[in-house]
Amino acid sequence: MNIKTFADLDLDKSIQKALLAENYQTPTPIQAQAIPHLLQGRDVIGSAQTGTGKTAAFALPILHQLATKPRRAQTGTPRVLVLSPTRELALQIAESFKTYGQFVHYRQAVIYGGVSQHSQVRSLDRGVHVVVATPGRLIDLLDQGHVQLDQLEAFVLDEADRMLDMGFLPALKRIIRELPEERQSLFFSATLSPKIMELTKQLLNDPVTVSVDPPSSSVDMIDQRVAFVEHGGKRELLKNLLEAPDVERAVVFTKTKRSANTVAEKLLRQGIRATAIHGNKSQNARQRALDEFRRSRVKVLVATDVAARGLDVDGITHVVNFDLPLEPENYVHRIGRTGRAGAEGMAVSFCSAGERRELRAIERLIGRRLLMVNGEPQPENGPTSKDDRSGNRQGNPKSKPRRNRWQSSGPSKNNSAGNSAGKRKRRRVKSNNGERQNVKPKG
Ligand code: AMP
Repeated sequence: MNIKTFADLDLDKSIQKALLAENYQTPTPIQAQAIPHLLQGRDVIGSAQTGTGKTAAFALPILHQLATKPRRAQTGTPRVLVLSPTRELALQIAESFKTYGQFVHYRQAVIYGGVSQHSQVRSLDRGVHVVVATPGRLIDLLDQGHVQLDQLEAFVLDEADRMLDMGFLPALKRIIRELPEERQSLFFSATLSPKIMELTKQLLNDPVTVSVDPPSSSVDMIDQRVAFVEHGGKRELLKNLLEAPDVERAVVFTKTKRSANTVAEKLLRQGIRATAIHGNKSQNARQRALDEFRRSRVKVLVATDVAARGLDVDGITHVVNFDLPLEPENYVHRIGRTGRAGAEGMAVSFCSAGERRELRAIERLIGRRLLMVNGEPQPENGPTSKDDRSGNRQGNPKSKPRRNRWQSSGPSKNNSAGNSAGKRKRRRVKSNNGERQNVKPKG
């Protein structure tokens, strides 16, 4: 079936009305591929990352089912369970359900840890159709008898790869044991590793697999650059990059919670509105930080991978990898925060001498070499210590005035680009401070 518009999908009127209100005109590829199968009651494996419209891909057919086959909400006995690895993502999924289901009569509850269970139990007791939950708190409430899953009609596992990365497999198995045999199962994951495929065998019945290729859809819209910089020069370089006029809203990724805090504090001291979000903060503090970012009260969100999972804020113009991720897949997740819904975005990865291996792993995954911040290719044999120093120099506030965008945050011809591939002859170039120096490309 060739799906071009939402009208082709024959969704209930109440849902069509919500889509119109949201000004959604055409289904995204994952929606066009998955929704027809889901409406037929098939199990679906969706290989898609955040930013592709995957939430609506499962929420719309589920809401259609609730709208066309209404039933009274029962205490603690949902018809639909959506499992999410993080609280942020759970809240976002619940928000999406509310948006798409604004004209459908149904009830939902969001269940996650780190806060009192009191209001969650109350909303379950009032009767629910849809429960969006993180695994830990759901198990607590299952054990306490506040929720039963035996009437479940649809089970959605979102971001399954992340779920396994976070060590939720035992929790998942426990929850799966509670599910009724007869149900529709929907399984979404950015990657389909052998471990993931093993899990799908336990969960799904004769599934259809639909996939949207992450690198070619959203990620290709993103201008991806690398800045070679010594570790100690990263903060200064960051400040310079973030001060570029076209940086409207940026997410900066760090490896550790501690460094997320220190980077955010340093930026604040330098007069850049920034806030940190990571797992050590209370749920309320994380939500507050996100709200401030969403409402543009702060321009820069400094985050760890786990905390930023599922972060869905429109208009993020830039992503900076202050530290490179250890797992290359996280690179794709990280940069996917920008370039959403067809918008252009820019991602800059800082790479110190100790992070070359991570950079290569990322480049293998995305299938190409990143350009340097000045738009030139990396030196054929990898950056030399000179490139690092030049990256560092980019962070020097006394460096030449900016030219444009990110490349502007440092001099171009006379830094790392001077060593660019193909120019093998010893040449004389002008260094940053105006002195002439010899540059001898390696190799
Ligand atoms: P998701 O991948 O579910 O996180 O969705 C990414 C973003 O795309 C969200 O901000 C959605 O509101 C938006 N979106 C999803 N589907 C569509 C659509 N068909 N048309 C326009 N925007 C959409």
